[in-house]
Amino acid sequence: MNIVLLGIQGSGKGTVVNNLKKHMDFALVSVGSLLREEVASGSPLGRQIKEKMENGELVELPYVMSAVKNKLKTCASDIVIFDGFPRSDEQADALDEICKVDKVIYLNLKKEIAIDRILNRLNCTKCGHISDRKTSPDMICPKCGAKLVVRSDDTVETVNKRFEQYYSETYPLIERYKSRGVLYEIDASKTPDEVLADVMKVIK
Ligand code: AMP
Repeated sequence: MNIVLLGIQGSGKGTVVNNLKKHMDFALVSVGSLLREEVASGSPLGRQIKEKMENGELVELPYVMSAVKNKLKTCASDIVIFDGFPRSDEQADALDEICKVDKVIYLNLKKEIAIDRILNRLNCTKCGHISDRKTSPDMICPKCGAKLVVRSDDTVETVNKRFEQYYSETYPLIERYKSRGVLYEIDASKTPDEVLADVMKVIK
């Protein structure tokens, strides 16, 4: 089963994925994480996409598809979850060419709440846990004790650009998948446990 996680930045896609790992086996294709790994590796490709990512712009389709296809080659599970992909009609067309999208889980969250979450977000450098400044004022991961950091693209300016891009390019995908009858909408303003329970109902 191929599942797409759709939602504005800050809607909790990463948290859903981290929490879901404790309950079921699945392969994850998280395009943002794959691209960040490429940038961190310092490869020529990483250097090419770094600027786009720091500016909150979408990375070009060939790079994205190459990251997605390489990751899919290593996926052994029957369930594949795409996080942060597709983000445009062009990407959705490209995804349709390589696999059938069975379910799309749309984490619906108001922009104002998403902005607040992103600007308070802290990411664990070791286990990937996502925390926030209120829960972890000491900048220490409550799960593994490693250092928490602010993502370099979680700035007011970049967040605004990413939101503009979301509403112009990604948001229209909701209609595309709704008309296919594969869209499941979830209220992402609920607690992480409640959102997880709703997501699991859709997947099972
Ligand atoms: P994310 O971790 O999903 O918030 O993505 C961080 C950044 O990675 C985005 O602002 C884009 O620059 C890039 N990115 C992530 N997913 C995609 C995608 N599907 N297409 C193009 N660029 C992407």
